[in-house]
Amino acid sequence: MANGKVAQASRRPLIDLTGQRFGHWTVLQRAPNGPGKTTRWLCKCELCGREVIVQRNNLTNGKSTRCGKHRQLQAQEAQLLRVSRIARGIVK
Ligand SMILES: [Zn+2]
Repeated sequence: MANGKVAQASRRPLIDLTGQRFGHWTVLQRAPNGPGKTTRWLCKCELCGREVIVQRNNLTNGKSTRCGKHRQLQAQEAQLLRVSRIARGIVK
């Protein structure tokens, strides 16, 4: 049978994300696969210049937009904002 489709279906093509930007990430290069054969990429956080390996899924679905350092900062800022709103009577 002259059917080449079967052989191709078992191989998922790798989407090259090098140079693409997701939030504050810039993708530098391919990183070794993570547990469960997750595709991962080495990304650079433009906010602090840190280079971190990020799962491709987290990049493409918008879950990860910067390194963990800022997530923590953001949580603190949100908490401070909330406290100040409560103090001004905006939030009960
Ligand atoms: Zn950062």
